[in-house]
Order: sequence, then C-alpha cells, then structure tokens
Amino acid sequence: MNGEAYRVEPGTEVRLQSHDPSDLTLCESGKKPGRRLTTELNARLGELQEVLYAEGKHKVLVVLQAMDTGGKDGTIRHVFDGTNPQGVKVASFKKPTARELAHDYLWRVHRHTPGSGEIVIFNRSHYEDVLVVRVRHLVAPEVWGRRYDHINDFERRLTDEGTTILKFFLNISKEEQKARLQSRLDEPHKRWKFSRDDLAERELWEDYQVAYAAVLRRTSTAWAPWYIVPADRKWYRNLVVSQVLLDALEGLDMSYPQPEEGLADVVVE
Ligand code: ATP
Ligand code: MG
Repeated sequence: MNGEAYRVEPGTEVRLQSHDPSDLTLCESGKKPGRRLTTELNARLGELQEVLYAEGKHKVLVVLQAMDTGGKDGTIRHVFDGTNPQGVKVASFKKPTARELAHDYLWRVHRHTPGSGEIVIFNRSHYEDVLVVRVRHLVAPEVWGRRYDHINDFERRLTDEGTTILKFFLNISKEEQKARLQSRLDEPHKRWKFSRDDLAERELWEDYQVAYAAVLRRTSTAWAPWYIVPADRKWYRNLVVSQVLLDALEGLDMSYPQPEEGLADVVVE
C-alpha cells in the first residue's frame, strides 16, 4: 500500500468534488483486514518513534485539518496508540485569545513546533488563519491573501532546520458530517461534543470547500506536502494516515545513539 496516491502535487488545481471521501482504493479487502494492517503499522510506528526519541535528531510535525466531525481526535487516538507519550505532543488551536490576537498569527504556532526527537501533532493549525478567518471575513482579503506565501516560507524555515512536515486534510462528505452531528445529538455520551456553532459552520460548507481548495493548491509544497485523506470510513482514514507517516519515518535514516564505549565489560553487582 502506498499513501502517496493522496499527496497533492505542488501547484495543481484541486477540485474537491473529484476526491471521493469514501474511496477505499488502497484496501479493497475491507474493514477487518484494514484494521489489522493499521495495528501492524502502528506497532512499527511505535518502534520508529522510540528511535526518533532516543536519537534526538529529527523533528516531525503532523498537521491535521478537517471540517467539524472530520475525525481529527479519532485519528490522533488511533494512529498514535503505539507511541510513547513522552515523545509525542498534541497542540490544539482554538479561537485565538486576546493575547494571541495581539500578535501575528504565527506567533502562537511557532512555540508549539517540535524540538529534536519529538513528534508534534497540530489539531487545527495556522491554516485556520486562511480557512475560518477567510470564510468568516475576520480580516480583509488582502491580509489573508498574503498568508499562503508566509505559511510556505514559515514551513520552509522549519524543514530547513530539520523538521519533517506532513499535512493531512481529513476529507469527509457533507452527508457523513450530517450523520455524525446527528449521532452526537442522539447518543447521550456523545452529546458533550455537540456545539451549536458546528451547525453554523455547516451552513458555510461550500465556502469552506473553496477555502480548502485554495489551501491545498497553494500550500502543498515539496517540503511540506498535503495529503487529501478519504475520511468517511474511519478505519480507512486511520490506515492512510498511519501508512504515510510510517513511510516518512522509514525514510529518515535513524538509528539508536552509540552507547558508551566498553560497556561489554561492565557488570552490575
Ligand atoms: P472538537 O472536535 O472537540 O469539536 P475542535 O477543533 O472543533 O474540536 P472547538 O473548540 O470545537 O474545537 O473549535 C475550535 C474553533 O476555533 C473552530 O471553530 C476553529 O475554526 C476556531 N479557530 C481555530 N483557530 C482560529 C483562528 N486562528 N481564528 C479564528 N478561529 C479559529
Ligand atoms: Mg468543534
């Protein structure tokens, strides 16, 4: 299986209508084998994350973006279940505080980027500053319009300094969102997740599709690619994200640090 099928080539026009959220092309054998495969991939991911942490050389940034109910939380829970929480952090970006708004939009983001040996997952990200901010007219078009270039430069700086960046757009359909929102209402233990704000956002679905298409076209770069992940089926979404991440870590050429010399003779009394 090769998740590269979902990578967005830099500069290509993205028509989200032609990306099927319920595509299962890479695992037509279905859910059960798909889940089994994900479990295997995650175990391997856990091993590689340990080397990454031990070696303390590389930094990995995973960006997750999606419409509400798109599955960011579930992806984090499932894909990273074999990893060591010591070396993996999640940074969630909500509505900016007054203090955050007093600075440029990348200010709050930069301090959460990974240090050596770390994997950081952005649950939402600086991309909100060209998504919700654009759709809700929170700043003027000439202000958000300049941000795609800033973002590419910012990410370039991070990768130049040793960060690997992978960005995932979890692509759900409007019908699937409806079903997921409805189940948040219907099932008492999910109700805490329901927010009326999500309904207001849903009304702007088409505007968000346009804003996402611009993000995918303008900010999928050789150094920080986007992947459009079919996300209507949760098991398949997890499988694709795990596979892409694993392939990236396999490509990092990592090894455990050299132990001290002469340890072979050491005896613990
Ligand atoms: P959940 O899955 O729990 O609903 P969530 O990521 O949707 O998680 P919420 O607290 O529901 O978290 O929503 C966060 C809100 O903050 C989103 O509506 C998002 O668009 C908004 N937000 C994030 N960054 C910005 C930003 N820079 N400017 C304005 N709004 C932002
Ligand atoms: Mg929400």
